[in-house]
Amino acid sequence: MLNELNQLKALLASPNRFIVLAHKSPDGDAVGSAAGFYKFLLNLSCKAHVVLPDLPSDTLLPFMADTDCLYFSEHPEAVKTLFEESSVLICLDFNAPSRVGDMQLLIEEFSGVKVMIDHHPEPEAFADLMISDVTNSSTCQLIYECIELMDLTHAIDQHVARALYLGIMTDTGSFRFPSVNAKTHHILAELMSTGIAHWQIHQDVYDNNRIDQLQLRGYAISEKLVLLNKEKNPIPAGYISLTKEELSRFNYKTGDTEGLVNVILSLEGIKVGVLIQEKSDGIKMSFRSKDGFFVNELAKQHFNGGGHKYAAGGISFDSMEVTLSMLLSLMEAQFKLT
Ligand code: 5GP
Ligand code: MN
Repeated sequence: MLNELNQLKALLASPNRFIVLAHKSPDGDAVGSAAGFYKFLLNLSCKAHVVLPDLPSDTLLPFMADTDCLYFSEHPEAVKTLFEESSVLICLDFNAPSRVGDMQLLIEEFSGVKVMIDHHPEPEAFADLMISDVTNSSTCQLIYECIELMDLTHAIDQHVARALYLGIMTDTGSFRFPSVNAKTHHILAELMSTGIAHWQIHQDVYDNNRIDQLQLRGYAISEKLVLLNKEKNPIPAGYISLTKEELSRFNYKTGDTEGLVNVILSLEGIKVGVLIQEKSDGIKMSFRSKDGFFVNELAKQHFNGGGHKYAAGGISFDSMEVTLSMLLSLMEAQFKLT
């Protein structure tokens, strides 16, 4: 990694034009790494732009303020021009070009230097500089560690600190997942020592629900939660499925069901939780697990997805009915207790 970081540092010191890019349907770590790395570049007097494939949720959007971000879903031509005019592409929080949706070809055909900084398992070798740490809690933590190793922490101001704090917070379930280590807390202390209102970040992300959103959550838990860990059929798993009609009944907006899958995992004895949602482009599935029950292979092999051992996602192009029956038999085969 030191060799890559030396090369990255040289790029930062040369007259380059940077694009900072994160994955489609950006989560807190994607938004935090893009906004944080962008401001870090500006603080080093680099020329930079942020590009995201599509808009984040209303909750995360304010964290993109002041970044002058171009969204490919809204301005594809402007993004294409930017790709032609830029010399370095910084790919954050994704491990394969397919994770940016319709922007995949732009990455593949980009003629400048490609840099990847990411923590997802099994990265595809698509970048010239691959900075991958699959044990890291978040891309935001990894970015901090890179900045520290490049001896550039003087370029971390409150904007960078707030963004990196956001990504570490959201990818670690507020600092509680097994991926959290002592280093995570040291870094958080450093970020807080810039004077950011860390409590405000928690409030902005977690205490900002619309009533529809809260009621959708209530409905999903009371009416749609199916547990499989019955005595007769001991699979330590549960799932919630939501159809298009159910989502629109509660005026669903992007991000409204964020965190709902973790509620399933909060049940005693449950090791695997799945949230299945009917969206316009297919049936989106979110997998979460714990205690040695891994979900990334299931997502990768059967649902066109992937992710981490304990947090993965995928999509199915079958009907809800077919998807559920396939999921159930796969979970039975993989997770049934003996
Ligand atoms: P979520 O359930 O929050 O959408 O996704 C959880 C994790 O699964 C993400 O951090 C990401 O690593 C992974 N993931 C989600 N959707 C996909 C997908 O379509 N493809 C791949 N490769 N990984 C995904
Ligand atoms: Mn991440």
